[in-house]
Amino acid sequence: MTTLTRREALLGAAAMAAAATGASPARAATAPAFHRVQVGALEVFVVNDGSVTRPDATRGFVTNVPTEQVAGAMQSAGLQGTALESPYNVTILRTPRGLVMFDAGTGGLSGPNTGTGPANMRAAGLDPAQVTLIVHTHFHGDHINGLTTNEGVANFPNAQIMVPEREWSFWNDAGEESRATEFRRPGFALVRRRFAPYQGRVTTYGPGAQVAPGVTAVTTPGHSPGHTSLLIADGNAQLLVLGDAVHAPQLFLPNPDWVPIFDMDANQAVETRRRLLDRLATDRIPVVGYHFPMPATGRVERAGTGYRLVAGA
Ligand SMILES: [Zn+2]
Repeated sequence: MTTLTRREALLGAAAMAAAATGASPARAATAPAFHRVQVGALEVFVVNDGSVTRPDATRGFVTNVPTEQVAGAMQSAGLQGTALESPYNVTILRTPRGLVMFDAGTGGLSGPNTGTGPANMRAAGLDPAQVTLIVHTHFHGDHINGLTTNEGVANFPNAQIMVPEREWSFWNDAGEESRATEFRRPGFALVRRRFAPYQGRVTTYGPGAQVAPGVTAVTTPGHSPGHTSLLIADGNAQLLVLGDAVHAPQLFLPNPDWVPIFDMDANQAVETRRRLLDRLATDRIPVVGYHFPMPATGRVERAGTGYRLVAGA
């Protein structure tokens, strides 16, 4: 159902809409470039890589509820109209042995206002050349395009790469590729292209693995076959890097059963979201979301039949 091509089509439409009106999203311009979070003794940065604005998030974005219901949820979330800004945020952990980065950013390919990550990293005092490890949540284009330039040169020359085992095997499976819908199929070639310059530096990790000191894999499949969130912890202090287990928080926290078009296995994604949010609320674990509005961090609380984000917590 969800596809990279479809996503690019949506983003393209958003870009054209912006160009047509000459409007640049004011919130993107004023969104903080980065946000620093302390997790025990660990220093974490959330770095904004730009955003896109969906001109009408009530149509085509949520696959399993009627337009009016999505419009109602947007209104309840305090959004005006039907446009929804969707940011991209890369989380970075500073360690004595270099920077550990969670996903690689958009590479500027998700729309005209994306690809600000590298500049915002420098603004935060983080040098892309000091990235020694990139841990991937999953392989959708907006999470892997930042690995290389358009010419296929590695943007992170000193980085090792860790990827979820199941994600790697799925996107490198010729059988899956041949069976994929025409919309999903380009994603397979994209994965090969983006990881090519890192040959010999890619390691797979499984559920529960410790991928770096203080960083543990929490398997959260459904958005993609091997989708994995990463728990950063130091003592009692924790921060879960959600990836896309929860997409736009305005819609999918209050309504965990709603399915964004990018969830590849709707049933599995909903089951994962329910289980994960229950745990996060019960254990009061702070989160950071790749597509959450800056500061993109907060604590998940139960609210009605769903959840809400207490921002910045
Ligand atoms: Zn995403």
